[in-house]
Amino acid sequence: MVVRRLYVLVLVALLVMGIGDRVAGSSAAASGSAAARRPRPLMRSLGTSLQEAEVAARYPAGVFPRSVAREPASSQPPLVRPRAITLPVLMYHGFTSLAGEYEVPIPVFREQLDWLKSHGYRTVTLPQVYAYMFGRGRLPRKPVLITMDDGRLSQLAAIRELRKRGMRAVLFVMGGGNQLDWAQLRKIKYWGFEIESHTMTHPLHPPLTKLSSARLWYELYNSRRVLRQRLGVSARYLAYPGGAYDARVVRMARKAGYVGALGSWGGGRWTPAQRFSEPRMLVRGDLSVRAFGQLVRSMTSKPAESPGGGINP
Ligand SMILES: [Zn+2]
Repeated sequence: MVVRRLYVLVLVALLVMGIGDRVAGSSAAASGSAAARRPRPLMRSLGTSLQEAEVAARYPAGVFPRSVAREPASSQPPLVRPRAITLPVLMYHGFTSLAGEYEVPIPVFREQLDWLKSHGYRTVTLPQVYAYMFGRGRLPRKPVLITMDDGRLSQLAAIRELRKRGMRAVLFVMGGGNQLDWAQLRKIKYWGFEIESHTMTHPLHPPLTKLSSARLWYELYNSRRVLRQRLGVSARYLAYPGGAYDARVVRMARKAGYVGALGSWGGGRWTPAQRFSEPRMLVRGDLSVRAFGQLVRSMTSKPAESPGGGINP
C-alpha cells in the first residue's frame, strides 16, 4: 500500500515537473509519424533529410549554374521548408529522322524549342530544381527541364539546336560507355550541359530491381566513379534505366552518393518526399507542336506562389 502511494506521488511529481508532458509528447509524435508513414512504405526509406538537400544545394552536380556554385555559403539564405513544384520535365532519347516513341526528328525538336522560347520558358538544371524544392534559391517564372537519356550520338544535333537558342539540358549517360565518346561528352560538359548518371551498363533485362546487391552497387557507384574520372563531374542525380526502382534500389543509390533520382513517366509534379523517384514526361517524335504545347502547359504552375505544393491543373 505504502509502495503504491509512493508510486502515485512520484508520478504526480513528474507530471508537475513537466517530464510527463515531454514523455507523452514524444510518444504521441512517434505514433503520429508512424501512422503517417504507414500507407507509403517507400517513403520511410526516403525520409527528408534537410542536411542532404543542403549538401546538394551547396555542391551542385555538373558545371552549371556557375552563379550558384560560386556563391559563398554564408551569403545563401537559410533553409525555408520543403515544397512541391510542378514543371515540365521532358524526356528525350534519340533524334534521328524517323519519328518514333524514342526518336524525335530534329525539325520537330526545333519547333518544340521555338515554342518553349516564344512562350517564355527557360531551361533549368537538376541542382536548381532540387535546391528550390528544399527551400533554397529561385527558379525562372516558367522553368523547363530538358533531359536526354542513353548518350546517343544523334543528341549532338539536338545539343546544337539548344545552344543556338541559349538553352541547356541534362544528359544521363552510362559509365560503361555510350555512342557519344568521352571527348564528345567533355565538350558537351564544357558547353554548359549537365551530365548525370544512367548507371554503368543500362540494365533492362533484368532491371535494376532484380540485380544482386553487388551488381546493383557496381551499376550505381561505379558509374559515378567513372564519370568523375572521365569527365570530372560529380554525378549526384540518377535516371533509372527503364524507370525501374524500388526501396532497395533507392537505399543503395543514397549510399552511393546520389541526392536525387528520376523515373521515366508520371508527369511534372515533383515533391521533396519522392526526390528519389521524380517523374518525367516522354516526348514522342510524332507529337504535333500543338500537342507538345498542351503537354507542357499541363505541367506548368507558378512556382513562387505555391510554397505548399505545385498546382496541378
Ligand atoms: Zn535509358
